[in-house]
Parts: sequence; C-alpha cells; structure tokens
Amino acid sequence: WGQSTRLYTEEDPVVILTSDTLKQSLQNSSTAWLVQFYSSWCGHCIQYSPTWKALAGDVKDWSQAILIGVVDCAHEKNFDICKEFGIHFYPTFRYFKAHDTTNDFGKTYRGADRELQTVRHLMVNILQNHTRPNWPANWPPLDPVRSEDILSLIGKKTEHYTAVIVEEEVSYIGREVILDLMPYEGLTVKRAVNSDKLLMEKLGITSVPTAHLFHPNGTHTVMHVQKRLRFFFSSFLKLLPGVHRKQSTSSPQHLKPGSKEQGAQVEWKDFTKSEVYMADLESGLHYLLRVELATHKTLEGEELKIFKDFVTVVAKLFPGRQSVVKLLETLLEWLVSLPLEKIPYDAILDLVNNKMRISGLYLSDRVQWVGCQGSSVALRGYPCSLWTLFHVLTVQASSRPDALANTGLEEDPLAVLQTMRRYIGTFFGCQECGKHFEEMALESLNQVKSVDEAVLWLWRKHNQVNARLAGSMSEDPMFPKTLWPTPDLCPSCHEEQDGLHVWNEQMVLAFLKQHYGASNISPKYTS
Ligand code: FAD
Repeated sequence: WGQSTRLYTEEDPVVILTSDTLKQSLQNSSTAWLVQFYSSWCGHCIQYSPTWKALAGDVKDWSQAILIGVVDCAHEKNFDICKEFGIHFYPTFRYFKAHDTTNDFGKTYRGADRELQTVRHLMVNILQNHTRPNWPANWPPLDPVRSEDILSLIGKKTEHYTAVIVEEEVSYIGREVILDLMPYEGLTVKRAVNSDKLLMEKLGITSVPTAHLFHPNGTHTVMHVQKRLRFFFSSFLKLLPGVHRKQSTSSPQHLKPGSKEQGAQVEWKDFTKSEVYMADLESGLHYLLRVELATHKTLEGEELKIFKDFVTVVAKLFPGRQSVVKLLETLLEWLVSLPLEKIPYDAILDLVNNKMRISGLYLSDRVQWVGCQGSSVALRGYPCSLWTLFHVLTVQASSRPDALANTGLEEDPLAVLQTMRRYIGTFFGCQECGKHFEEMALESLNQVKSVDEAVLWLWRKHNQVNARLAGSMSEDPMFPKTLWPTPDLCPSCHEEQDGLHVWNEQMVLAFLKQHYGASNISPKYTS
C-alpha cells in the first residue's frame, strides 16, 4: 500500500510552508504569521494536529491579518530551513510580524498552554502589538474606541452599519468579532470598554459584553443574541442585510503554496517482523547526524561531551557495514584529537559529508525505512529507528564485553543506557519524550547492575512507553503498540501464573540477544 498521508494536507485551512516558500512568505508579508514547526514523527505533534487544524479553521476569516502555517521539519526538503531557523524541538511555535523586512527568525511562543482559545488570544495579541505608526491600512483598529466616536453616530445617516461591542478590558470577544468580520463589507465593527462611564451611561448599558448596532438610517439598537458569545455576535452581523463577503479577498494568493508534494507516494518495502534492518539503522544515523544534531550550530561543554560519548558508543558497538563503522571511528578519532572546547557543527558535517567520502567512508543520505516504515509518512520512521539502534547497542555491549576497552566507558554496565538517556534528554527533537524517558531513568536506572540487565531494562521501559501510547494518535494502525515481543515472535517469553500473564525474563533476554544480534540484521534495501 502507498504512504500518502502527512499531518497536514491541502484540504486543511493551514498554509503548508516548505524550504521553497517559507522565507519568501514571511518576508515583508502583508499579514502576520503563526507557524508551527513540527515533525511528522513526533507523537505530540500528531496529537496536537487536530487542535491546530481546528484553530486554523476557526480563524480562517482573519487571513488578511494573520495566517497559520506549518513546516514539517521531518521532510527532507525542509531539513536545511529548519536548521537555519534553529528549530531544536517539536512542535515549536514561532510568530512573525507583518511588513517585517528584518528577515529574522521570529519569536517563539513558549507557553505550556496550547489550547485553541489560548493560541487564538495569542494571535490577537500578536496583531495588537504591531507597532502603531505602521498599522497596516487594511487592518481594522483593535484598540477600544473613545465614547465620542460612538456617540457621534447617534442620529447620523451613514453608508453602512457600525457594530460596537462593549466589554471588559480583558475580554477578547470584541477583537475576535472585529477580525471575524474583516473579509466582510457593509459594516464596521468597533470595540469599547466598560470603564468608559460616559458611553455606558448614554447607551444605558448595565452588563457586558453587549453589542449595539448603529443602522445606516441613524437609529441604533441593542443586538439581541441568544448567548453573548463571539460566534453569536459574528453570525448575527454576517447575516445583516447588505453585509456580504468582499469578492476579491476571499482567498489569499499564497494560501496553498507547495502543497502538491503532500500526496507523495512512497513504495512499500516487504519485510519480516522477525528481522532487524540495516537500512533503518543507517537511515536513523543519517537523520541523527545530518538533521537532528545539525540544528545545533555549535557543540560545547556538556553537549559536546554527550556527543563524544554517543559517537564513542556507536563507533565501538555498531555492528554495521565496514564503510559506516570506519566513518564513525574516524569521526571519533577526530573528536578525540581535537583539543577544542567548542566545535562548529558544520565542521562535523563537512567531515562526514565530504572529507571522509574521499576515502570511501560513506553513510547514505537516503532515508529508507523498512522495518520502521509506517502506513503513512507521518508515522514511525526516525523514533522507531532510534529505539532499534539502542536495543542493538545494548545487546552488542552485553555480547562483546571488551568492545568499549580504553574508552573510559568499559567499566560501566550502564554506558549505553546513560549515553542514550543523555542523548534523548539533550538532542532528541521530541522534548516531551525526553522528559518521560528521564522520569523512567530516574526511577530505576540505578538498579541496573550488569550489561544483561541493561538489555532487559530498555526492553521493559520500551514496553512501558508502548503501553502508554497504545491507542494514541501516534500509533500506526498497521503497527499497534502492544507488549513486545508478541507471542508469535517468542512463544516461550510468555507464561501464565494463576491465570495472569507473566514474562519469562530469561527467555526474553535470550530472544532480545538473538533478535537484536548482529546476525539478525538484514542488509536488504541498503544500497
Ligand atoms: P516503536 O515503539 O518505535 O518500536 C520500534 C520497534 O521496536 C517495533 O517495531 C518493534 O519491532 C520493537 N519493539 C517494540 N517494543 C519493544 C520492546 N519493548 N523492546 C524491544 N523492542 C521493541 N512518543 C510519544 O508519543 N510520547 C512519548 O513520550 C515518547 N517517548 C519516546 C521515548 C524514546 C526514547 C523514543 C526513542 C521514542 C519515544 N516516542 C514517544 C516515540 C514512540 O515510542 C515510537 O517510537 C513512535 O510512536 C513509533 O512507533 P513504532 O510503532 O514505530 O514502534
């Protein structure tokens, strides 16, 4: 079957931005932007996508003032642009002012609350904080109007309606209704606040929010709505006779750039669940070295130490093809030989991509998921390969006790797990995953006393994550998250005690050593 789904498609009201369109869309844009940099393999991004789509649908009428965008940083085409924008974690929310010529990389929204309403309020704030003297001519004022501007309308004939929402200073309803009606003509919407005593008194207002409608014939009435909510006010105004959508602005030109590729088909690769695939491991290493780490401009201090340990562990334990292992060893030698405290990541990339290639040392830059392919491109892939890599490494550490000799890590049965823990906590793009993993490590990693226990610890924790994620949106329906290994893979791993399922951990350990052992890694699909 084909892989055709990304998290966002051209059917969604979001603007799908890519490396080809991002900068050009943001630079000196007539609208502000709120852009989500996500990764299609990040579980939290998957879970959040319905909210983001709902938000984009909810504020579709605001598109002449602010647009909602998405950039898939897991898409090969966008690797460079996400790196340039310094996107380390997913999802990252950045907003960009309208008519900005500075070409900067936007401001990050760091709030933990990503509920639809909170983000919608953030959008209002972004617009309202636009520098006043440069307020775009086509944007309606969002600040409260003065009482004289309203009261002067009483008895005055005009060409169109004026609606005035009177509310508390902190309320967003007025500004939201103003923006909802932006693409409509035949009326103006304004906002006033209840601290304006003169206005409250003259219009006889006793409770807020409320809305007054000034008709073209000079009369004015209270707007009667069943509930004093944004949706009720906006719908009422859109249905007034003579109020209709402006023709020319209903669909901004740049609403759907670069969306053709969204339906890209990836050929399905046959594989068996009982094997591990070198193509997954190499694709994972490629992504980790050239994409995930490359978002860091320089490595220094603790980050550099974590990177060095990671390269040490992989160079010494990865049971890969000779050209890849040699590449990792050369990278390690280079890192160890450098007395530098700080390394620009571009130097590492140059070594991996160019210098070593000359000597025939090469890590493919093609992403080929096999055992880690998903039924859609948004599922599985990189995080699956990372789990697989670390299972392979724990098994290697237990079957080749001398492999880490003279590295400083040889005495430590936890060497692989600690390296994984620190990599995940520092560099893994899914920050929430890192937090969860750290919690698990804090809870029980200190109980691990041998390399075999390390193999089992990672298996147990991976199952814990599977159990937590079962039924979540990051679960691929073709690959349901279950306790693993399933009985078809390892019947002897499963037992029953008093009618209750229990693991035979000795059998599990034997199975893991066989499954993740070097001889079970298939070279199929590696070119
Ligand atoms: P994965 O869980 O990625 O497993 C890959 C392969 O490993 C499976 O296909 C199977 O062959 C094998 N396997 C399965 N279970 C075990 C086991 N117990 N022991 C050994 N091998 C096994 N996503 C979130 O949404 N929230 C999180 O908090 C989160 N935390 C993560 C933490 C880490 C350290 C990592 C690497 C990933 C995390 N993810 C999280 C991603 C998530 O765990 C999956 O990797 C992702 O959803 C892809 O799932 P998958 O179906 O490919 O299987």
